[in-house]
This record gives sequence, C-alpha cells and structure tokens, in this order.
Amino acid sequence: MAAYEPFQLSAGVAMKRTPQVQHADGLPSKVSIYEVGPRDGLQNESAIVPVEVKAHFVRRLVAAGLQSVEVTSFVHPQWVPQLADAEQLIDALDLTMAPRMPVLVPNVRGLDRALSKNLHDIAIFASATESFAQRNLNRSLDEQFTMFEPVVAGARRRGLWVRAYLSMCFGDPWEGDVSVAQVVKMARRLLDLGCDELSLGDTIGVATPGHVEALLTELFAAGTASGQVAVHFHDTYGQALANALTAMRLGVTTIDSSAGGLGGCPYAESATGNLATEDLVWQLQGLGIQTGVDLEALVATSVWMAEQIGKPTVSRVVSALAG
Ligand code: MG
Repeated sequence: MAAYEPFQLSAGVAMKRTPQVQHADGLPSKVSIYEVGPRDGLQNESAIVPVEVKAHFVRRLVAAGLQSVEVTSFVHPQWVPQLADAEQLIDALDLTMAPRMPVLVPNVRGLDRALSKNLHDIAIFASATESFAQRNLNRSLDEQFTMFEPVVAGARRRGLWVRAYLSMCFGDPWEGDVSVAQVVKMARRLLDLGCDELSLGDTIGVATPGHVEALLTELFAAGTASGQVAVHFHDTYGQALANALTAMRLGVTTIDSSAGGLGGCPYAESATGNLATEDLVWQLQGLGIQTGVDLEALVATSVWMAEQIGKPTVSRVVSALAG
C-alpha cells in the first residue's frame, strides 16, 4: 500500500477559483441577495469607520453586482455610535445607483429624516419576543406595533418600499425557545401593517434546517407568499448555509448576508454573526443559481474593508480566495 501523502499544490499553481456547477432539483433559478454589511455589519463592529470609507464600501458593493444594499440606520447615535454619520453618508451617495438602498428607520422621527433625504426604501426592526422588544425597543410586544403602524402607513402613502425585520425568530437569549406559532403571529401582524417584505432573523444563530422548514411551512400556510419573505441567518453555530439552502427549497428567493461576514454576534463578542455574502455566493454559483454578483470583485472589496476595520474576515470563501 502506498504511503499516505498529503495533497499539496506546488508553488505557483493557482487554486481553482470557482465551484463546479451542478444544478439541483427544487431550487430557484435566481436569488436576490440583500446586502446588510454597511448597516448590520458595521453597526456590530467596534471600529468606527470614516464616512468616506463607508461611501466607498457601498459603491464597491453595488459595483460588484449587489442590487439591494442596506446603507445605514437612523437609530439614535446614542444606541449606535458606529452609524452616527447616517445623513452625511446619504449625502455622499447616489441612492439611485442600485434598485434598493434602504435605511433602517426606528420610528416616525426616523421616517421624517428618511423623507427629508428623499429615500425610496426603508426598513423597520421588530421583535418576535417580549424580552427582546423590552430590551431593544423599550416597549412591549404589542406596543411595538403601535410604534410601527404610523411609520409603515406614512411610508406607504408616499410610495416608499418597506421591509420589516423580525428578530429572535428561532430563539431568544433571555427566553430560550421561541414557538413557531408565536413567530408566525408576529410575522403576520407586520405584513398586515402593509410591509412589502419580511426578513426572518436568526439573531443568535441557533436555527437548524428542520426549524427553518417548520417556521416557513407554517408561515406560508398562514397565507404568506414566499416572495414576501426573506431570511437572515447568522453563522454563529455554522448553520447559516444549511438554513439558507433549506429556505430556498421551500421557495424563498431573498437571502440576507454581509460582505466578508461583517458584524460579529451581538451577544457573544468572539463569535461569528452575519452569514458572509461570499460564502453564500459560492454556494449559489455551484448550484447554478443566478445572483448577478461578481465574486472576485466582492472578495476584493471585503479584503479592503477588513484592512479598514483592522480585523480579519470571517468569510471562509474570502480566506480561501484571498489567502
Ligand atoms: Mg444580522
């Protein structure tokens, strides 16, 4: 028997930089990636990034082919100092450069700021659990809807596109398990306000594929169209890609991710948070699913951004291709 020899690329041999394409049954032909790096990513990084770097980051993401890029947040700078320059960033950008460039809007005051900047798209951020509503919004589960109702109504009246995030859909750090029935109820209430899209958030990254299937099946059975639903998985326990694949098999065609995996886990300093856009794009490319994203351009963007924040990327694909 031949001695075992570890496989090694000899010096100067370039690694294959794209996956072999093999289509699989029961998957969409096209997926919209909703890029959250500039907002959800940077708000959860400790580095404060200068506004011109943020503007360049957004432009590079759009140039890499991302069609939906969440730009920033109008949450009070006291809560999110990383995004205190929201207005300056918007002034530095042409918000018609991509089809969707939403800004997170916490309340009516935030909506007024969005309207004064002539934004076309906004996002609101709701909780599926009582504990997180209290801690993050300082409101009860019911009171959050009282806060969002005039925001969504005002935005719709002016023709704005509205996304609603629903957080803690698969588990809550204070409450533990969260029932599928509870999440479906909160999801329906948000959609019934008139939101165009609902993003189901696995805020602490604990979801596994069976749980994703159970929630989506119940949500669709409650009259929700798959086209209204996006999924926002965190890779804290390494499950994000399996969960994304499960969601696609059930008909979801919008997936949230963050370039380079920017944005650590908000509840565990050293852990991974957002699914990396590059990791998602690699899987979609291998499955022959169209995204419109230029992976090389995206990897270059994330390598550059990692230098800006002084922290290595957590994306496996960025590490493999740029290493
Ligand atoms: Mg996130």
